[in-house]
Formats: sequence, C-alpha cells, structure tokens
Amino acid sequence: ELKGIYSAREFVWWYNGHPDCSDLDPDLKSTDTAVILGQGNVALDVARILLRPTSELAKTDIADHALASLQESSIRKVYLVGRRGPVQAACTAKELREVLGIKDLYINILEADLSKSAADEEEMKNSRIQRRVYEILSKTARSQPSHPISGQRELHFVFFRRPENFLHLDDCSGKVTGVRLEKTILKENGGSGRQSAVGTGQYEALECGLVLKSIGYKSVPVDGLPFDHHKGVVPNIRGRVLSHTPTEPLILENGLYVVGWLKRGPTGIVATNLYCAEET
Ligand code: NAP
Repeated sequence: ELKGIYSAREFVWWYNGHPDCSDLDPDLKSTDTAVILGQGNVALDVARILLRPTSELAKTDIADHALASLQESSIRKVYLVGRRGPVQAACTAKELREVLGIKDLYINILEADLSKSAADEEEMKNSRIQRRVYEILSKTARSQPSHPISGQRELHFVFFRRPENFLHLDDCSGKVTGVRLEKTILKENGGSGRQSAVGTGQYEALECGLVLKSIGYKSVPVDGLPFDHHKGVVPNIRGRVLSHTPTEPLILENGLYVVGWLKRGPTGIVATNLYCAEET
C-alpha cells in the first residue's frame, strides 16, 4: 500500500499511453533513486525509460504525459535487482545492449558477482542467450571506470539479492523509503539444470523512493473460455482452443483460436510471437 511502488506493467502502460494507466502519475521528483525488482527485458525497458536523455525520448512515440513527467524527473540512479546471478539474468542480448548503450551512463557491475561455478558453466553450455548476456555483462564490467563522474546517471546491476520487504518511515507519509534485500546463493534444483536462489539469512537495505516490480506476468481468464489456472493459459493444441483442460477429453472448440501469451505463457521476444501467430 506504500506510495511509490508500482508494477512494471502499470508503469509501461503509463508511458505507452494505455487508457487504464494514463493517470498513474508516478512521483519522479521526490527521489533520485529507483529500484527495479527483476532482470528481464521488461525491467530493462523500464530502466531505459528512466535513464535515457529526454531529448532522445522526445523523438519516439512515448505518451506526452510521460515525456513531460520524465523531463522533470530527478531520478539519477537505477538499481536492477536479480535474485540470481549474471548467468541467469532473464534479459536478452539486444535489449541489454540497448540499455548499456545509453549516452553518458555510468554502469556498475561487481567483478565478484561475475565468477562462475561449474553449474553456471553447464547452464551456459546449453544456452546461447545466457552465454551472450553473460559476455556482454563481463565486458561492460571490465570497461567501466571505478566511479561515476559528477552528474552522470547511474545503472547498478545488483545480483544475488531477493526482496524481503519494503521500508518506510514511521510517519504518516506512507511513502516507500527502500527495499530490504536478502543475500542469496544458488542451489541446483534436482536434475532440472536450473539453479534456484536460496536465502542466506543475511540482509541489507537499499534506499530508494521509487520501486518497480518487474517479476513477470500471468494471464487472467477470459469470460466464457476454458483456462488453465496453473499455467495461466487457455488450453490449446497449436493454437486451437480445447473445450477442457488437457486432463479431460480433448474436445476442440470449433473456429476458436488463441495466440501469444494467452497461448504459451508470458515468454518470448517479438519474433517468438511472429512464429506463434503463424502456427495458430
Ligand atoms: P521475465 O523475463 O520472466 O523476467 C522476470 C524476472 O523477475 C526474472 O529476473 C526473475 O528471476 C524475476 N523474478 C520472478 N519472480 C521473482 C520473485 N518472486 N522474486 C524476485 N525476482 C523474481 O519477465 P518480463 O521481464 O516481464 O518479460 C516477459 C516476457 O516478455 C519475456 O519473455 C521477455 O523477453 C519479453 N519481452 C520482450 C521484449 C522485447 O522483445 N524487446 C521486451 C519486453 C519483454 P528468476 O530468473 O530468478 O525467476
């Protein structure tokens, strides 16, 4: 309920002029620091909007109300917080390069976070995307000066930290003042090849006046359509909607199709959706 905490979805809808969030009016003037929870492409999109010079944003089709608010923004530091490491950052290379390429931006990535375990090496062997993202992050860490120059905007990658709770003052302002983070380590998850973040019981606070939660999406049911609540999808075979969940008899709805995140779940870049649409 604290002021200053938004979901990335609301924030993205606000700067894209979606009618449901045009009046979100996030306060970008009372703080110089924003914390974004999550390290997927949406988190990068949001960081890019907060950090890119507004003279460049003005040339895009960003909503007018968002541009006006960003022109008055006092946000200078953005922290991108991931509960796992640089090998597991959920973003993709092109989107990462776009944010790292912002003019006159100081980027902070701790060298210590870049050390890899045998399990990390194994994950990278199996994923070209993870390899490329890790390489870009390492190269960036090596090429950055040790401190920002005065007035420079800053982007900090914070790895191995998971949010525990939001902080606020004991006054009646109701504003967020920071996020309490728990340090994590990675543990292998059975034989899945996926490593999970496990809390260490060590905590630290990150002060900020704006928090954007960017931890992924889940579709909501559509009235009158079958819905798999666990996966958050309309059950389907290659896009053709099933009348019931796959455990029940597979009766196809005649002439009814589904595509995109409602078909596959909330993953994939634009090109993934092109193939998905083609399949449907
Ligand atoms: P995402 O890629 O699923 O990333 C979610 C992030 O939140 C991950 O870093 C994840 O960490 C973290 N997270 C999830 N649950 C958490 C929790 N309980 N506590 C802490 N951290 C948590 O989601 P997204 O960024 O919203 O993107 C959705 C899809 O849209 C993605 O496939 C993305 O590539 C796509 N997209 C594409 C573009 C583009 O084409 N340019 C732009 C925007 C989005 P873990 O990995 O540890 O779970």
